[in-house]
Amino acid sequence: MSASNGQLHGCQMIDDGLIDSHCHLDFDAFAADRDAVWQRSRAAGVSSVIIPGVSIRQWRTLFALVRNNPDWYGAVGVHPWWVKDLAIAPTQLQQAVIERVDAEMRSGSRCVAVGECGLDALIKTPMDRQLAVFRPQLAAACDLELPLIVHGVKAHSEVLRALKQFRPRCGGVIHAFAGSEEIAREYWNLGFYLGIGGTITYPRAAKTRRTVAAVPAESLILESDAPDMPHAGRQGERNSPEYLPNIALTLAELRGTTVEDVTQTTASNTRQLFDL
Ligand SMILES: [Zn+2]
Repeated sequence: MSASNGQLHGCQMIDDGLIDSHCHLDFDAFAADRDAVWQRSRAAGVSSVIIPGVSIRQWRTLFALVRNNPDWYGAVGVHPWWVKDLAIAPTQLQQAVIERVDAEMRSGSRCVAVGECGLDALIKTPMDRQLAVFRPQLAAACDLELPLIVHGVKAHSEVLRALKQFRPRCGGVIHAFAGSEEIAREYWNLGFYLGIGGTITYPRAAKTRRTVAAVPAESLILESDAPDMPHAGRQGERNSPEYLPNIALTLAELRGTTVEDVTQTTASNTRQLFDL
């Protein structure tokens, strides 16, 4: 699909195909068949994935995978679900993130962001503890001049407050965005893209579907969040980057445009944000 598009515009950047901006391909759910999943994803038109960091212990294994595949990129962060396992004081985290990013970059790893980090109101970890771990990662992104991958669940006002406090210059993405057009535009005005995934395949997600149809095309990037976030009709199954074309198709239908247009625009947005 993208090849003809690329020839049409005479621009090699357009030939890239879909980019999965958020995929936990390093998780155990893919241990048995990771390479086969990636082959099928490539065949389905996915050209690259960004694999977020979730815990200090996981950073090493994540970048061991990233170093072995030129189409994979990594990030360094502590996800809110792993805050309860954090073995260092939050006051040491900013430095730990900076040191790890520096080490990965020095060794030639493709490290493109800080995250995923953020706030999740649906877990037991108290919000002030989550904030104490989120803030040093915001500070690290500012120091490193890297974009942020933000996980915000039922916590838009707290996330927005933190972003306004730190104003990370390279912006980032609100991954798995769900919410109103008003909130989406607030993020976009702060330099944060909206990560669009499986949620929009559910007709009951009416508000989010209206939002993604209405916001500027320049603000949207695609993601699987695999192995989580199964699409409508696949509930209970492992999600996979190979299904990303379904997100592109759904987004194209909601916005009244073509899959080629969605593919090209979101890939170009993702490249711009993460400097791929
Ligand atoms: Zn994630």
